[in-house]
Amino acid sequence: MKIFNSQSGLKEEFKPIEKGKINIYVCGMTIYDFCHIGHARTFFSFDLMVNFFRFLNFEVNYVRNITDIDDKIIQKAKEEGVSFEEITNKFIKAMNEDFEALNIQAPNLEPKVSEHIEDILNMIKNLESNDFAYSRENSDVYFDIEKFPEYGKLSKRNPGDQDSGSRVEIDKDKKNPNDFVLWKKSNEEPYWTSKWGKGRPGWHIECSAMSNKYLGANFDIHGGGLDLKFPHHENEIAQSECANNSDFANYWIHVAPLNVDGKKMSKSLGNYFTIRELLKKFHPEVLKVFFLLSHYRKPINYTEDSISEAKNILDKLYESIRESEKFDSTNTDRKIFDLFTEALKDDFNTSQALKILQKTSQNLNSTEDENEKEILSNTLKSLGKILGIFNYSFKEYFQANLDQGITRENIDKMIAERNQARLKKDFKKADLIREKLLSLDIVLEDEGSKTTWKKLV
Ligand SMILES: [Zn+2]
Repeated sequence: MKIFNSQSGLKEEFKPIEKGKINIYVCGMTIYDFCHIGHARTFFSFDLMVNFFRFLNFEVNYVRNITDIDDKIIQKAKEEGVSFEEITNKFIKAMNEDFEALNIQAPNLEPKVSEHIEDILNMIKNLESNDFAYSRENSDVYFDIEKFPEYGKLSKRNPGDQDSGSRVEIDKDKKNPNDFVLWKKSNEEPYWTSKWGKGRPGWHIECSAMSNKYLGANFDIHGGGLDLKFPHHENEIAQSECANNSDFANYWIHVAPLNVDGKKMSKSLGNYFTIRELLKKFHPEVLKVFFLLSHYRKPINYTEDSISEAKNILDKLYESIRESEKFDSTNTDRKIFDLFTEALKDDFNTSQALKILQKTSQNLNSTEDENEKEILSNTLKSLGKILGIFNYSFKEYFQANLDQGITRENIDKMIAERNQARLKKDFKKADLIREKLLSLDIVLEDEGSKTTWKKLV
């Protein structure tokens, strides 16, 4: 198994710390709004990796945190005149609904910052007593990056590279403008008491404290969106390695961002899509195929065309498994399985894995041999499940897809398409259209060259 390690910048042979086991920590959502399609890409990618590790028989312990204390959450609570818990409860519920709709599995553990203040305070005390942290009278508590000469080893950024005037707020209490907050003093709700006074944790310390608690000082994989590489992950490394006097994560995996029509998604540009908005328009598995078409390390561009491409691919895959329910064996084709596994073992090459599915689907469509049909159909379904698709039957898939579209106009269009296919003696296609309509309870009746339809009641 090869994984691209963001820290070394190389594709490396993956070696877990303990044979057969994988401990993975992924930075989860900061919870103050609905999840957008970029979040869907990130968390779907990690879901797929965890699924694949489990398919390879690793025992995976997957921890994904929830950031439920953050300036943006507090700001939103203030604007709406409610408690911060009201905001976080609402959006945690929404996140769970969205992930469930996308069939993204829950992690083994989903720790929240608000439930780990004690662990966070202990880590800050540890850093302070070992001289990695400091505070001045009445100031916040800071991490002293001068004390960690390896700072920058993940992002390859030198603290000095930054233009401190524009990027980092100059704070007179800091020794170095890039020192970052471990404990932020505040009397504003929510606050907790500490030896440094009332306040709340800085953002980065939560992941160091929670990963240490659940996975130990040194664990296998740390992941997150590419936007978190600097400074968040760099700061996590500094805190964890100094507090624990140990290596931190052995492999870093970063998922590249998603753009819309070539631009960064933003509410002000009007190109911002939440998961729930898009799921009203597309089947959840269409979105997944759209993600699978690109490698997780490459930025992905969301356009109407790229979604229709994904939909066409998925339609064809579902069409070819439409008879799968009649087969009762579980026989599969070992060779295809091996090719597929090789693709994903190469740093999760999902587009290659998807090509193998498409090829299998073509072979399935062209064979007349019942035994071969059965084997190819079983193989296709099993492989699709590893990629997170085929969670529906052919009928359910097309019903869901056409739910918004059962208009007279659409039915007439499909009948015209079927008649064209019959003229060209493409009876397979003609039958397929009839079946699709039947799954919507529309029955066709042919009389000579004229076709009429009626809806079953
Ligand atoms: Zn984090």
